[in-house]
Amino acid sequence: MTRADELAAGLAAVEERVARACEAAGRDRSELLLVAVSKTWPASDVVAVAGLGVHDFGEARDSEAVAKAAEVASATQAPPRWHHVGRVQSNKAAAVASYADVVHALDRARLARALSDGAERAAREVEVLVQVSLDGDPQRGGAVIADVPALASLAADLPGLRLGGVMAVAPREGDPARAFALLAEVAEALRADHPQATTVSAGMSGDLEQAVAAGATCLRVGTALFGHRPPING
Ligand SMILES: *Cc1c(COP(=O)(O)O)cnc(C)c1O
Repeated sequence: MTRADELAAGLAAVEERVARACEAAGRDRSELLLVAVSKTWPASDVVAVAGLGVHDFGEARDSEAVAKAAEVASATQAPPRWHHVGRVQSNKAAAVASYADVVHALDRARLARALSDGAERAAREVEVLVQVSLDGDPQRGGAVIADVPALASLAADLPGLRLGGVMAVAPREGDPARAFALLAEVAEALRADHPQATTVSAGMSGDLEQAVAAGATCLRVGTALFGHRPPING
């Protein structure tokens, strides 16, 4: 199998899972955005998957992502939309704001301000999702639920940012369905104050079915599409 065949088969398998999950949940595929998480994979893979009709790609490390986005831009007519799904150190915020259209891991006020400053300097507007910690474990990133409203309001007010919604990674322990149900409650509460913040980013290769069932609007899928990453890059 060529790499192009592998990627086509990976995408078809993911779309099959998404279609089945939508059917089981009584949802329409058009309610879901698939972000192909291309971290560790080369720009040529992004170009190939974009050629299959995927418009949204996710990265987790700013240095890798900035270089890859430039490479992809020079190889394609219409550049894809880039999503930064990984944690962001405040001193990397300007680099992230320079390439990413959507940042999924906003988890603190300082980062919101740094991203907004970076976006303004780059004359861009960056969409942000507030990452919610569903188990209160700060190691996995995310704001604790009690801090979400203030962080969301700050993001909505900052000039370089647009508040898009919420994001979460299922906790290592426990049932992802319960975690995503909690995220759905947080998302609903957020929409009461910010009706435009409709994105619920949840679900990865291992738990996309549970995310679709719980009402996610955005799936972040890497391994099931591209294959297994070298373990060092997580
Ligand atoms: C790497 C990553 C993904 C993709 O994970 P897979 O299990 O490979 O599908 C999704 N979300 C975040 C935040 C990630 O870092």
